[in-house]
Amino acid sequence: MAHRITLIPGDGIGPELAEATTRVLDATGIGFEWEPVEAGEAAIATHGTPLPDEVLESIRSPQVGLKGPITTPVGGGFRSVNVGLRQALGLYANLRPARSMVGVESRYEDIDLVIVRENTEDLYAGIEHMVGRDAAESIKIITREASERIARFAFEYAVNNGRHKVTAVHKANIMKLSDGLFLESCRTIAVDYDGRIEFEDRIVDNMCMQLVQKPDLYDVLVLPNLYGDIVSDLCAGLVGGLGVAPGANIGTEAAVFEPVHGSAPKYAGLDRANPTAMILSGALMLRHMGYPDEATRLETAVRDIIAEGTATTYDLGGSTGTAAFADAIVDRLTTASAAR
Ligand code: NAD
Repeated sequence: MAHRITLIPGDGIGPELAEATTRVLDATGIGFEWEPVEAGEAAIATHGTPLPDEVLESIRSPQVGLKGPITTPVGGGFRSVNVGLRQALGLYANLRPARSMVGVESRYEDIDLVIVRENTEDLYAGIEHMVGRDAAESIKIITREASERIARFAFEYAVNNGRHKVTAVHKANIMKLSDGLFLESCRTIAVDYDGRIEFEDRIVDNMCMQLVQKPDLYDVLVLPNLYGDIVSDLCAGLVGGLGVAPGANIGTEAAVFEPVHGSAPKYAGLDRANPTAMILSGALMLRHMGYPDEATRLETAVRDIIAEGTATTYDLGGSTGTAAFADAIVDRLTTASAAR
């Protein structure tokens, strides 16, 4: 029976990446029935809102969504659809693996980090207001419940994926109450994993320097929302850029898989953007759905094609287009299945 998956192509380069990714996922041989829905700029034109209810309804039923990037206006305009979607569906954990790839130029060759970012609160709770005309306040929300939940997710991920250490990242020396509570919650959960998974903490500014200088000292990082957003882009940069950085938003009821990068409007419709990040997000989706072998096969095909260097997109120094890169992966997957 085909798996029904909600597909949100998104804005900018999103639709062409979604087309490439669904084609590659179809070539794994697992049956999918894609249910496309509009969110973001496209949905404003058709539904008068960037996040129509039908998007949430659609994801709630198969409980799995694959999403392209969505543009968020800077300053004014509509509230981030990405944040709205994560909050409405309770997608509390944002998982962003950063792993070096042969053939992708970067400062280090053997990075293997996993960022676990809390996805529902912190400064992303969206509570801000003007105080008079010349001052603005944003309220940072940190709760014990959400902090313990994300810490447990990080430790469980470590246990289930053969990892050895979790590092909690914070600024509890300055934000003694909010970040202090996050750190305290991580320490509480760490006790349950004593003797199995090592635990330590780092102040976020020091963490950024350490990641640039000694990334091999770290394994799984757990962070509140804002630091998680920033540090995951830093880690994406360490392994060769946003074009190769996948992500997953996971909750108790539903999960939505999406690349770390945004809608890169200047490349929209040019068949130039790298679909690797969205394809690897699709591999995370396969693993989540209980297809670990197919996920590994897909990741290996992507890694092999990039390592061979014959079909790479502009950001990796090549000139292959989005669709042709996907063709190369599809060929590799179908040839491999024919040979089995
Ligand atoms: P961006 O990630 O869209 O682009 C930054 C640069 O990275 C691009 O100019 C391009 O050079 C490169 N890049 C990104 N993706 C690439 C790909 N697949 N292949 C090759 N190169 C790629 O970041 P931005 O310019 O800061 O944001 C653009 C829009 O995307 C904004 O509206 C932002 O809010 C939104 N955004 C959405 C998400 C999401 O949907 N989850 C995430 C981040 C940003």
